[in-house]
Amino acid sequence: MLVDTHCHLNLPPLISQLDELLLEARTAGIERWIVPAVHPDDWGQLAQLARTTPGVRPAYGIHPLHAATVTADCLARLDRIAAEGVAIGEIGLDGTFGNQYLQEQLFRAQLRIASTHDLPVLIHCRRAIGRTIEVMRAEGVATVGGIMHAFSGSCESARDCLRLNLVLSISGVVTRPGAVRLQQVCRELSLQQLVLETDAPDLTPFTRGQTSNRPAWLSDTATALAELKGCTIEEVAHTTSATAHRVVGRL
Ligand SMILES: [Zn+2]
Repeated sequence: MLVDTHCHLNLPPLISQLDELLLEARTAGIERWIVPAVHPDDWGQLAQLARTTPGVRPAYGIHPLHAATVTADCLARLDRIAAEGVAIGEIGLDGTFGNQYLQEQLFRAQLRIASTHDLPVLIHCRRAIGRTIEVMRAEGVATVGGIMHAFSGSCESARDCLRLNLVLSISGVVTRPGAVRLQQVCRELSLQQLVLETDAPDLTPFTRGQTSNRPAWLSDTATALAELKGCTIEEVAHTTSATAHRVVGRL
């Protein structure tokens, strides 16, 4: 069995064909999906999805791209519903967009909510790895741990994350012939330190061309990782699922 640690099942085009997509994914051996929120407006929909869909686990949080619209009331609401999810996410810093100061304030506030509720975190980090690591270290993220979503950094950054009790989530990016650095990270780290995700509908595996990503295609990433580690797909499935359950205890 495989665990997809980051899949936006509530977003279009996935939500409109969910039954068909999840049947296809179950047939490919995937049985659990962590669905991270991006905006407070998602939270109600995610709760509903988790109630009605076997294997779906919600995580509540606010993506850094929405930092400018967050009010104190949003954070109070997050604090109230946090424990109904399996993690806090997705949260973090995005150096390509928006106000960095507001992002950091929001990130810190959400790391504190995670710590209050003893929930792991799902970290979005784009072109801000150094600062993300500094903030997480300062906020004591190691006590709750979590997952670096769609990790694509260097081996050095990977080790910094591991020291903070975070594991790295490998996406379909690893299937790209040009993803040499990420492939090297996969070779160097122990399989126990990695989990898998699709980030569907984004980050379509190279093997599937230019179309929106589907939950079933997690198996392409599992296959690529098995090749890089020189092990079987069953070993990848077993080990990455065990790690996902260890990090996200309520999975
Ligand atoms: Zn995402």
